Amino acid sequence: MDIDDHAEELASALGVDKQEVKTDLQNLLEYSVPIDEAKQSVRRKHGGDGGGGGTPSAADVADVTTDHGNVTVTVRVLTVGRRTIRYQGEEQTIREGELADATGTISYTAWEDFGFEPGDTVTIGNAGVREWDGEPELNLGSGTTVAFESEALEAPYEVGGEARLIDLDPGDRGRIVEVRVLEVERRTIDGRDGETEILSGVLADDSARLPFTDWDPRESVREGADLRLEDVHVREFRGVPSVNLSEFTAVAPLDRPIEVRESAPQLRIDEAIATGGMFDVELVGSVIEVRDGSGLIERCPDCGRVVQNGQCRVHGDVDGEDDMRVKAIVDDGTGTVTAILDRELTEQVYGGTMADAMAAARDAMDKEVVADAIRDRLVGREARVRGNLSIDEYGANLDAESFELTDDDPAGRARSVLARIGAGSDTSAGGGDAATDGGRPNGGAGR
Ligand SMILES: [Zn+2]
Repeated sequence: MDIDDHAEELASALGVDKQEVKTDLQNLLEYSVPIDEAKQSVRRKHGGDGGGGGTPSAADVADVTTDHGNVTVTVRVLTVGRRTIRYQGEEQTIREGELADATGTISYTAWEDFGFEPGDTVTIGNAGVREWDGEPELNLGSGTTVAFESEALEAPYEVGGEARLIDLDPGDRGRIVEVRVLEVERRTIDGRDGETEILSGVLADDSARLPFTDWDPRESVREGADLRLEDVHVREFRGVPSVNLSEFTAVAPLDRPIEVRESAPQLRIDEAIATGGMFDVELVGSVIEVRDGSGLIERCPDCGRVVQNGQCRVHGDVDGEDDMRVKAIVDDGTGTVTAILDRELTEQVYGGTMADAMAAARDAMDKEVVADAIRDRLVGREARVRGNLSIDEYGANLDAESFELTDDDPAGRARSVLARIGAGSDTSAGGGDAATDGGRPNGGAGR
């Protein structure tokens, strides 16, 4: 069904003008509101029941599923974040955050101001249940009632939303952080109202560093400032959590210095992957494989994708531009990531410039000699990699900012890794070689 069909169906069900319904739907879809949810909102606006059906039943938070059309819950309010969306061409402030009872937590979106604050205990009647990011979420609209309870509900969750940066996840709302601004720049972007000025940069506390965006640029957000930020929300930006300051974020200078983590946090690979993506993390593990597509590669001049046999996946026949990269699988025994090294880091591990690599490839009449030389240098060695970790359906990728081989008994490490992955003696040349060239960080491998 396209939007016209949806509008038609809604308009006839509600007995209202189709064009009006369609405009409402389009406005919501502009905000990436899923179509089913958009239809529910429009139904509610026109006095429908939201389409969930059924009588609301009192439920424990842990038992709420999207099979419930509507529910009634008694909960403690953990967080309240505010955000503006445009609905019907007008700015509308919505409230979002988390609720909890003794059985669990659930997120919510309130389309009206019900007046509750973090710490309040409320009974929410007739809340819609929708799916958001794979989880049930409560939707509080015009058909919802909120009654304040005088007795506080016990719930084993922290009220107020204070968090350390390392604990923030995409989708978090109404959070409070105390941070130092490490980097900031003013940028002009094409926003929904045309050109808009924003600030973007990097924040840090003693647990981590994260990128941020201030959509309502403030003078107080400047390099070196120590700030308390109340009511920030977290989005995913290039696979890592990013802190977003909105017009509702309260920014207050702190009268004490924030301790800043100078080095990237070093995590076990399984722990790092469990975070769902991290900005600036350090991982240490053994290189167990240098994947195909490493060494000398060609990129599409239009989109930067890797070109194979002169073909870009998007742009077809193109004249590829030479580049170098490494895709190295790093394993610490708890998990694996693919470390992706750019040209500069690749030249470092190769031990020569791209011109050197091209010359070697010409001499051998085979580009693969470059990847092979890199394999010889890396496989079986322990590496310390720092960069941004992102997770997708194909696995975990670490976009490396730095990559260094650590030299604690490389021969021993190589043997143990090769034994663990069951490699035969014919592939142990990489490990053996590694043992002897450990003292030559810029040796001439491959030339
Ligand atoms: Zn292309």
